[in-house]
Amino acid sequence: MQLSKRISTLTGDGSDGWDVFNRARKMIASGEPVIELTIGEHDVRTDPTILAAMDASARGGHTGYATVAGVNALRERVASRLTERTGVATRPGNVMITPGGQSALYSAHHAVCDEGDVALFIDPYYATYPGTIRGVGAVPRAIPTDASDAFQPGRDALEAAAPGARSLLINSPNNPTGVVYDRATLERIAQTCIAHDIWLISDEVYDTQVWEGTHLSPRALPGMLERTLVVGSMSKSHAMTGSRCGWIVGPEAVIEHLITLATHTTYGVPGFVQDAAIYALDQGPALEDKVSAPFRRRRDLAQKVLGAQNAVTAVPSQGAMYLMLDIRATGLSGEEFANALLDAHKIAVMPGESFGQAAAGHLRVAMTVEDEVFLEALERLCAFAASYT
Ligand code: PMP
Repeated sequence: MQLSKRISTLTGDGSDGWDVFNRARKMIASGEPVIELTIGEHDVRTDPTILAAMDASARGGHTGYATVAGVNALRERVASRLTERTGVATRPGNVMITPGGQSALYSAHHAVCDEGDVALFIDPYYATYPGTIRGVGAVPRAIPTDASDAFQPGRDALEAAAPGARSLLINSPNNPTGVVYDRATLERIAQTCIAHDIWLISDEVYDTQVWEGTHLSPRALPGMLERTLVVGSMSKSHAMTGSRCGWIVGPEAVIEHLITLATHTTYGVPGFVQDAAIYALDQGPALEDKVSAPFRRRRDLAQKVLGAQNAVTAVPSQGAMYLMLDIRATGLSGEEFANALLDAHKIAVMPGESFGQAAAGHLRVAMTVEDEVFLEALERLCAFAASYT
């Protein structure tokens, strides 16, 4: 039987750049002691108090179908969180709760792209972006950035890609680069969207992980309110990756259509998960800071290690749980280096190439193991790089 073109071409052609990751997983499964710095997931689990709230809700009977758009109290919490953080008045009608940011990204593209429309995204990119775009029948078009500009998109690259495009997907704080877009970059992006009548999809799932500078939501920029869809999630901010709870914030008319889409696809998010999210958000920044603290601390530790050598150059690490390291001085590609590092030192990191051509010759290191192990891995990585220079 023949499958649809859409599903069979979802991940595009060629190597998917996940060989190192798959090899590391196999080594771990066969009992080898690999230091795993590949995946963006906390080394702590969901806070026990959040689990207690989830348990109380489920035992209290919130195990039936929940309202498709999300329970009102959670839509209210998310709306007031955005109002407080961005200064833009946001109402529950501007919010739909989704099964994680991943589903929100798919739904947002579904809402604004028709079959064959060009959907822009910035290279380097979170690995699933092109597949999400293809999944709605749109055509992914990458906007290249350069390490020398801290991977922030420049005016020329934006203007070259924009004509005829329907949407632009951005992500700040950024996975994989750890870069936080500055105001000038966001204004440039906004101007491009307005000039070319493009929807902006702003993936802000790392908004609580900012080590330098400030997180700015482009939805708050002049002229952007009616053309921006913000994607958020409890995954990174509250170590709730497995709970699958996120949201889309946008104009009410778009949210209404998205609710119709959810009615025919996901049918919403479990009520007990949403109640746990309400509890978690009610704890305010104290809980968010507790969850993000290990990454902030490890990033500071990494700055010291990286500052004391010159085989590896770090891209300014301003946010998110990753370091982007430039290893071009070794003469190896990211893939070659990552494979060699895994073989020689049993340290698994992601080759930059897994996240697009703009990140070639780089490595993404997730700061997701305890401090001592992380430091040791980073020191060994730098010494390994030095042996090639
Ligand atoms: N956007 C980015 C940039 C991510 O890194 C991730 C998860 N790794 C997501 C969205 C999706 O996260 P979730 O579905 O768990 O909310």
